[in-house]
Amino acid sequence: MSSYSSITKAFKRDDVKKKVTAEEAEKAVETIIAWIGDDPKREGLLETPKRVIKSFNEHFAGYKENPSEILSKTFKEIQGYDDIVVLKKIDFESHCEHHMLPIIGNASVGYLPNKSIVGISKLARIVNTFAKRLQTQEIMTSQIINAIHDNLNPIGVGVVIEADHHCMKTRGVHKKNSMMVTSQFKGSFSTDEKLRNRFLDFIKD
Ligand SMILES: [Zn+2]
Repeated sequence: MSSYSSITKAFKRDDVKKKVTAEEAEKAVETIIAWIGDDPKREGLLETPKRVIKSFNEHFAGYKENPSEILSKTFKEIQGYDDIVVLKKIDFESHCEHHMLPIIGNASVGYLPNKSIVGISKLARIVNTFAKRLQTQEIMTSQIINAIHDNLNPIGVGVVIEADHHCMKTRGVHKKNSMMVTSQFKGSFSTDEKLRNRFLDFIKD
């Protein structure tokens, strides 16, 4: 599957969302509250379904964003700059698609421009766009690098993500101190070890 079709696929989920009203979603939260054994009608919980859905709107805002649009504005005037551009440790909050529990971490993105660059905040927005969806860290790494690769056409690009998975910290194996690291490289970042190592050096703590 090409990276574009996987991005498009993510957008189709938005169509699914439109068919469910906020009221129906709130009702579902009410059902879950009753199922876990509490009374959704008691005072403290009355407004909870509304608040949960409101927070979901924030947590999952990425479905409404289009990565190609975010990366569409590029700058050609780079005055001969020919080295890598790195934005490191971009904080993000995401949710795992298996348990809908938080994934908290940061992403470092680097690319070697091919005649044009993108506004640096756009790299942070791309990370946010994919983070604010249900995710696995592997897929998110891949989506970020593919979006940059397909839209900017850089000579090389690399993405490293390190994150805490709350589904592993607060339940299941209860490993509080483990952190997951994923990385993917394309173009010169994958073929030129020296370049890749410089990028990895840049993003060290
Ligand atoms: Zn999980």
